[in-house]
Amino acid sequence: MLGIIVPLLMLVMKIEAIAVSSGSFNDDDTARHYNSRYSIYDESYKVDFRYHNHTEMHNFLRKTSSRYPNLTALYSIGQSAQKRDLWVMVVSSSPYEHMIGKPDIKYVANIHGNEAVGRELMLHLIHLLVTQYGTDDYITWLLDNTRIHILPSMNPDGFEISKEGNCEGGMGRYNSRGYDLNRNFPDYFKQNNKKVQPETEAVKQWISKIQFVLSGSFHGGALVASYPFDNTPNTLFQSYRSQPSISPDNDVFEHLSMVYSTSHTKMHRGESCSRTQPGFKNGITNGAEWYPLTGGMQDFNYIWNGCMEITFEISCCKYPPANELEKFWEENRVALVNYLAEAHRGVQGFVIDEFGNPIERASVIVKGRDIKFSTTKYGEFWRILLPGNYKLEVSAEGYSPSEIDFTVIKQHPTLLNVTLHSTKRVGENGEQNQQQQQYGHGINNQGVRPYPHRDYSIHYHPNGATNNGQISDNSNGILSSISSGFNSFVTNLFG
Ligand SMILES: [Zn+2]
Repeated sequence: MLGIIVPLLMLVMKIEAIAVSSGSFNDDDTARHYNSRYSIYDESYKVDFRYHNHTEMHNFLRKTSSRYPNLTALYSIGQSAQKRDLWVMVVSSSPYEHMIGKPDIKYVANIHGNEAVGRELMLHLIHLLVTQYGTDDYITWLLDNTRIHILPSMNPDGFEISKEGNCEGGMGRYNSRGYDLNRNFPDYFKQNNKKVQPETEAVKQWISKIQFVLSGSFHGGALVASYPFDNTPNTLFQSYRSQPSISPDNDVFEHLSMVYSTSHTKMHRGESCSRTQPGFKNGITNGAEWYPLTGGMQDFNYIWNGCMEITFEISCCKYPPANELEKFWEENRVALVNYLAEAHRGVQGFVIDEFGNPIERASVIVKGRDIKFSTTKYGEFWRILLPGNYKLEVSAEGYSPSEIDFTVIKQHPTLLNVTLHSTKRVGENGEQNQQQQQYGHGINNQGVRPYPHRDYSIHYHPNGATNNGQISDNSNGILSSISSGFNSFVTNLFG
């Protein structure tokens, strides 16, 4: 039985620091939100259970954007080393515009070119979302309240040289220059001297320009949901056993991992893929506890960009025969859809000044979780949190910092709008400066290096023709100059 999900109410901008109800999921756990089989199947628009090479994948995405112009937008975030476009499909009732106050989320698959199942599942997921919009209550709610960006292949060059049926090995894992893309991101814990690859750079640019709230990346070769941190601080005496590397949001990461593993038909059992591989309790693991790695994508998403990303290993065989794809789709279908709603859990809101104007790049920290999230151009912020009582610390240059107590409940996100007051009228006041330094700038009083964070926050939306063929240009000033710059490497395809 599907739950009816009431769309979020628009936020009331000028209410200061209050928590209000924004609608309701329903009484069920998120893990049970989506559990239906899709019934209407448009025979002329379908995706077969077989592997699609780069051209075939692109053709499917074009066909989708042509058939569902009101629900999808297709854009490229850049090109691979061998000049294949890194196509992203947005699925949302607002595919071309960020919906202010509503989260953008993403899935990235095929980072290792020979781990091919996720790549195909992304196409089936796109098909499911667009064909079920307006039919399935949950999916309709999801697309009305979320923009879902799907990058089916981050490593199209590696995929092209990979071989169906190869369950193990490294052929096709790397990009065409021999780099492992999931070891190619900036690393908080250790120096990463690997030369940045075009695929990595494209993803870094992408996630710096859109404030993604939630993300999943798809791999193969195991069956587990692996959560940050993937890397661990250098220690003088390295243990021969891998140790967990626990982030300040460990409870949230474990929860997000459990949403996927328990919605998956098998992952939650935690069975190992082979005698040489470990099993995982509940089908989840801390990344570093499994094995530490430097330059991974999920730590980068979280530490630098305030995006909660989990790595999903979804097939024991990296590139299984195509006749197993339908089985993999059935194993993952509910999990893929359920996970997406988690972006709506926790606290969200706006940081504004006393005149109601949004404050961009305000620092938003949940006390005790020393990762700084930043507000967007529109003053928005999101923090995925489990039910409980929290304190929000908000600060911005030129404003008096503010602390707000708030409560998160299970049934719906807490809306919290924060007004910061300018320090300008106070004059050059030493007290104000001291206050601001409390909030995460510089070394803290334990001498611990603070986490870095995105130093800019720009919303990108696929710019170009809208559904009626007009050029979408409702932006001006800063946004339009940013958009035109970004468009130099973002290509849109229509129809
Ligand atoms: Zn992998």
